[in-house]
Amino acid sequence: MRPIQSLRQHLNGLDGKDYGAYQSLTGAYSYPTFELLIDQIPKDPYAPPHTGVYRVRVEWDQARFPGEMIASGIRAIAFRDYLTRRIHANCLEYSKRRGTGNSGIIAIAEPGQEILERTSVVFDAQYIEARMFLGLPASGRRIRADTAAKMIFEELPQVVNASLFADALDLETISRYLQTAEDAQFLRDRLPDLELAAFVADGAILPRISGVDRRPLDNENVVPFRSPESLEVSIKLPNAGTITGLGIPRGVTVLVGGGYHGKSTLLQALEQGVYNHIAGDGREFCVSLPETVKVRAYSGRNVVNTDISPFIRNIPQHQDTVAFSTPNASGSTSQAAFMSEAIEAGAKVLLMDEDTCATNFLIRDRRMQQLVKKEHEPITAFVDKVRQLYDEHGISTVLVLGGAGDYLEVADHIIQMIEFTPHDVTEIARQVVQENPSGRTHEGEERFELPKQRHPYWDGLDTRNEHGHRRVYAPNPHELIYGRMRVDLNDVEQLLESAQTKAIGLAIEYARKYMDGKTTLREVLDNVMSDLHEHGLDLLDPKFTGDLAAFRDLEFAAILNRMRDFRADQARV
Ligand code: ADP
Ligand code: MG
Repeated sequence: MRPIQSLRQHLNGLDGKDYGAYQSLTGAYSYPTFELLIDQIPKDPYAPPHTGVYRVRVEWDQARFPGEMIASGIRAIAFRDYLTRRIHANCLEYSKRRGTGNSGIIAIAEPGQEILERTSVVFDAQYIEARMFLGLPASGRRIRADTAAKMIFEELPQVVNASLFADALDLETISRYLQTAEDAQFLRDRLPDLELAAFVADGAILPRISGVDRRPLDNENVVPFRSPESLEVSIKLPNAGTITGLGIPRGVTVLVGGGYHGKSTLLQALEQGVYNHIAGDGREFCVSLPETVKVRAYSGRNVVNTDISPFIRNIPQHQDTVAFSTPNASGSTSQAAFMSEAIEAGAKVLLMDEDTCATNFLIRDRRMQQLVKKEHEPITAFVDKVRQLYDEHGISTVLVLGGAGDYLEVADHIIQMIEFTPHDVTEIARQVVQENPSGRTHEGEERFELPKQRHPYWDGLDTRNEHGHRRVYAPNPHELIYGRMRVDLNDVEQLLESAQTKAIGLAIEYARKYMDGKTTLREVLDNVMSDLHEHGLDLLDPKFTGDLAAFRDLEFAAILNRMRDFRADQARV
């Protein structure tokens, strides 16, 4: 550990030199209130942020936070997440482009609306460690020592001192933040006992600013959520006291309503309810079971030996649907594959929105049954499967529908959205069904056979690109660059942050040791998740870059399943 003065002298000597000379600054330095570990400095001012590794360490004894802030796993995660946000906000005060490329940038991995375990701030017994990025400044490729000095000796300490010390922060706000996470977790943990798939609190603000901005919509027209009385549930939370809201029961639930009445917005709250939201999000107390998966169609995707036979059989030219592969799935086969894969990975609740479903996967009405005989239709419509999935396997479905009325007779509960407020129309729908029989013939089999498990192989999952360089990164949440592969994840809607996508990419690389062609995918998932549980996300990144966030095994499986060089065999019986 060198004193910070030595860094200052050294830096002065670098002025005007080639950018590469910055690398001589790597090392550990002690500031009056913290330590700075410069592990890695990029060779180039244009290098992406994650190629520089700057770790700031503050001793707990100096930071002086009350012990209760890390008194449980969920509190520690929420506290780490909170500190990341403080640093992020404080960096914005100083960070600006000052020279070539990323010159002048002071940053930390940007968090979204969810409280997640993140490697941007980590704790050990002695330290709080924040992993930041500094874009050391240059004109062209020439070092600007004066600006660098300002960043390193003035701005960085100001950010750190304003973010990582109890004296500088509002402990009340932090406490509420941790309590919110604790309450949300408690609420989610209660769902199984209450036989609920999800819960949406009264007063919640569900709509978002836009499709690309997930902060809450904030204008005078926003309608706060209000549960219909018949489905109202009240729950006592450890911190917030008793709250009421809509309990969506397990089973088959259909959300109906006219266009633009808020159906998709409610469904999205259920999709994202697998995560805890930050205080102020509007959906703090909207939770779903952790095994909830949004399923949709996405034509063109890759499918690897997936058993789609529960939904599709006897396709022309005799392609096998028990081990179905294609580089270019149709709408209905992509949806069948998504559903089989989700079930294989452990989904307990399936969410679907008519907007993003293949019609022929969902329904086959009476007239179509008469015109196109069953022997000429490989697809068994989901309307004939949805009950079996729940009755035989306990897998619930929540389906948004505006047009497909045949589902009214297979649903346990029917909720109508009217001007953004839900109404329980189950009884009315029963009458409608009685008075207007669909006249359909049931086409499902006797039983729903669960899709067969697959055994993954590691060998297609090379992280080296065409130049032989190891490459795993996520330019955005819905795109993973993994070796030579560019994986399109636009249909994996519950992936919310690039930090999750990158973490899964690294976890797939890590998990290759379990992919021996004999271990089932489900077992591979269990092994990876239990390793991560034991060692934390740092297991995936020995460089401590700080841009990883927690993810579910369900998204891990979803990404693996979309990789074009992924190989898996099926256990044949
Ligand atoms: P649907 O799926 O029924 O067609 P959406 O959920 O897409 O409707 O909602 C339509 C529009 O209304 C969206 O722009 C959405 O942001 C907005 N919206 C949804 N819920 C509310 C609400 N509670 N208050 C105000 N606007 C809302
Ligand atoms: Mg919609």
